[in-house]
Amino acid sequence: MTDRPGKIVCVGRNYSAHAKELGNDVPKEPLLFLKPPSSVIRDGEAIELPPQSSQVEFEGEIGVVIGARLSRVSAANAGAAIRGICALNDVTARDLQKSDGQWTRAKGFDTFCAIGPAAAAPADLKTLTVLTRVNGVERQHGLASDMVFSIPELIAYISGVMTLEPGDVVATGTPAGVGAIAPGDVVEIEIPGFSVVRNPVTKTV
Ligand code: ZN
Repeated sequence: MTDRPGKIVCVGRNYSAHAKELGNDVPKEPLLFLKPPSSVIRDGEAIELPPQSSQVEFEGEIGVVIGARLSRVSAANAGAAIRGICALNDVTARDLQKSDGQWTRAKGFDTFCAIGPAAAAPADLKTLTVLTRVNGVERQHGLASDMVFSIPELIAYISGVMTLEPGDVVATGTPAGVGAIAPGDVVEIEIPGFSVVRNPVTKTV
């Protein structure tokens, strides 16, 4: 998987404990936003902290690579359209996310979407977990079974809004424990048994 996805569709506040840690309510419907394909980096590439932000944070997430063209698919049929599962870091400039009021800039900087290699999905998507480590120390440990909206529900919901195409990636939300990263850190997102993406952090020069 070295090519860029056509789009990256992300879901906000999909774990209630994370919604609470940022002072937000759990949404009644999935909260969608996009990251640009230009934000994508792969395993080993550097996350660059931009000069516009003084609070860039990691968000470890379960990424889903779409394998078929999907429009208004049901949740029951969504699972069959998954090409793979990948570790994903939805890097976020938290200060700009708050001050801008919408999230395009905060989520859209170059290098702000680290995506690991994809592996075939398990039969039961609810068994997936996601771990985040910074410099080897565990910071997030999320269970897909704790998601507010399940992976098939998210794919169905998104495909009712925009056509999903092969290679598109869905970022399914981050669990509690988000935190800031600094130059010299190494951030690792792991979907145990499936995918890892590990990235050093540098300052944009
Ligand atoms: Zn996120």
